Amino acid sequence: DQHRAPDYLSGLNPEQREAVETLDGPVLVLAGAGTGKTRVLTTRIAHILASSRAYPSQILAVTFTNKAAREMKERIGVLVGAAVEGMPWMGTFHSIGVKLLRRHAELVGLKSSFTILDTDDVVRLIKQIIQAEGIDDKRWPAKQFAQMIDGWKNKGFGPADIPEGDARSFANGKGRELYASYQARLMTLNACDFGDLLLHPIRMFRAHPDVLKDYHDKFRYILVDEYQDTNTAQYMWLRLLAQRPKGTPQNVCCVGDDDQSIYGWRGAEVDNILRFEKDFPGAKVIKLERNYRSTEHILGAAAHLIAHNEGRLGKTLFTDRTDPDDDKVQVHAAWDSEEEARAVGEEIEQLQRQQHNLNDMAILVRASFQMREFEDRFVTLGLNYRVIGGPRFYERLEIRDALAYFRLVCQPADDLAFERIVNTPKRGLGDTTVRSLHDYARGRNIPMLAAAADLIETDEMKAKPRKSLFDVVTMFKRWQGLLETTPHTELAETILEESGYTDMWKNDKSAEAPGRLENLKELVRSMEAFESMRGFLEHIALVMDAEQNEDLDAVSIMTLHSAKGLEFETVFLPGWEEGLFPHQRALDEGGRSGLEEERRLAYVGLTRAKRRCHIWFVSNRRIHGLWQSTLPSRFLDELPVAHVDVAETDQSYGGYNRGGYGQSRFDSQEPFANAYSTPGWKRAQQNKTDATRDNWGTRSGVGLERIGYGESGPRARTIDGE
Ligand code: ATP
Ligand code: MG
Repeated sequence: DQHRAPDYLSGLNPEQREAVETLDGPVLVLAGAGTGKTRVLTTRIAHILASSRAYPSQILAVTFTNKAAREMKERIGVLVGAAVEGMPWMGTFHSIGVKLLRRHAELVGLKSSFTILDTDDVVRLIKQIIQAEGIDDKRWPAKQFAQMIDGWKNKGFGPADIPEGDARSFANGKGRELYASYQARLMTLNACDFGDLLLHPIRMFRAHPDVLKDYHDKFRYILVDEYQDTNTAQYMWLRLLAQRPKGTPQNVCCVGDDDQSIYGWRGAEVDNILRFEKDFPGAKVIKLERNYRSTEHILGAAAHLIAHNEGRLGKTLFTDRTDPDDDKVQVHAAWDSEEEARAVGEEIEQLQRQQHNLNDMAILVRASFQMREFEDRFVTLGLNYRVIGGPRFYERLEIRDALAYFRLVCQPADDLAFERIVNTPKRGLGDTTVRSLHDYARGRNIPMLAAAADLIETDEMKAKPRKSLFDVVTMFKRWQGLLETTPHTELAETILEESGYTDMWKNDKSAEAPGRLENLKELVRSMEAFESMRGFLEHIALVMDAEQNEDLDAVSIMTLHSAKGLEFETVFLPGWEEGLFPHQRALDEGGRSGLEEERRLAYVGLTRAKRRCHIWFVSNRRIHGLWQSTLPSRFLDELPVAHVDVAETDQSYGGYNRGGYGQSRFDSQEPFANAYSTPGWKRAQQNKTDATRDNWGTRSGVGLERIGYGESGPRARTIDGE
């Protein structure tokens, strides 16, 4: 029958096809990297649309990033043409959450114009609350409490739900109370944080079964990619929507890979995979075992590495790609990170000379600080690169100030924005004025901007601040009036000019000022892609990955965490050293789970590569100005001989002398067991057996002895994380 199937089905293998064609009832696709899980989801949507089983608006599809959603849309477009237009419910959990909440804000006590606060706003708000309660915020830092709240929200806990022990662990038992005040304050501000984007809809669905029913009727098909990284709140949300009433099919399809669960530190629960079968009885579980992405060597290396984890559901992976010309995974040593960046740059230039595109290459780092060295090197070489999900443009000081102006114009109740800019640039509106505004506003339960408009009419204020405040209020009124009539980029420029904000930086003599002015220009430019200022602000609030230069041929630089789901012809994996990868934090935890998550991250890294994979480690790394000597990552020892080459190094590595190198390194299953040792830190001889657990035991002992924390303190605290 194959020849009569639609084109988009004919390229699939039987298991993939089953996953695509099983449209009625719950389906769980559990499969390793590169086996076509995402492709199955894409084709499934194409199939639903092409066979007219649902309108685009009746499909709810969850991806892990906004970028992944856009790519999926493009691919569906290729398969079924314009039918994909208007798939409004495809996006991340958060972006879909915003959409639901804008529609039903009033049901949870918000107005549909609510603001989404970022982490920085949240911390400032919590700090205010902690101080207002008379609690010492040095002893009980706002940042810590913000993290606790985020953790509770990931678990689906409102203030009433948090376990007693948790509530007691902050500010002498005030945890619950503070959490409740925080939520109340968010309501007054007509704002919510990221966690609320899921929690509010969950609460709303529970309180309003009629609304939930509408969505049960609406969403005929639900699909979720990267299912292994959903947290409890996301799972609850999903279950509410997917568990349609008896008699209606529960057409939910989740795809995932337990070996790629890498967001445990952010509350992801890999156990959701097991819960699925329980909550959706009769779910069809489909396994895909053929990998279409990588060469035999890359796959062999990855599979052997991940086999060292104990907590796995376990699965088989194979590939037909056994070209004798394929390179093995290459492991390189460098003296330090500068040398590492230079060598990677050379490798890239060589590939370029062989007509390979930069777009097909990626550098995946464990910690974002590693990026700078590569960026510097590429600037020197004139190699185009793009940082994905990196230190974000929108997080810079001048950008945040400008955004606060725009936010306040669009959303006059946004007090955090008001406070941020009321005296920036300086207008003689000091703490006293701000405090009296604050009190007045809270006393009457009105926004601070409205309080300002009231207060300038009274004689409660001194003449000078009153005049300044009058100017502020007048400006905002004017800009708000222009909101609907003036093109938004023009309005943005007007705001930055008239507020005196641009002048503030023009008059600033610091070295950064010119760069800040350029960034402000770039900000206004970036708004051109949007239809309105509100649309732009929405985008900013949600944007996860900064994608500049989309069209340019460029090497991608990103963290391993942001690389999930992606693939590149050539992948560079620098920094495979103990303490960096696996990360010291995971090692300090001592338990198995932290280390296993690091190993899954290594597995994700390796399996991003289609044809070529280069791993690097350095023997010296400078971290916050301090040189530290380092040990090759234990993960190198866990790569199989048959699929790995240790690249020859020349003598330029500044006296880096690896005793034992090249002698009998390939006589064991673990190629690096004896391969590397350098004077000064003789590595303990590894047990040559495959007894992984024993190796770990030995290894961690060696690590502690060797790294010599003495002089500079534990590295754990000096490496910045994800
Ligand atoms: P990951 O776990 O990394 O997210 P995945 O399981 O989602 O991987 P995909 O990204 O869907 O895998 O597919 C990996 C690669 O294999 C893609 O380039 C995809 O186009 C290709 N591929 C998948 N299935 C087939 C097939 N049946 N025939 C040819 N190529 C395929
Ligand atoms: Mg995928």
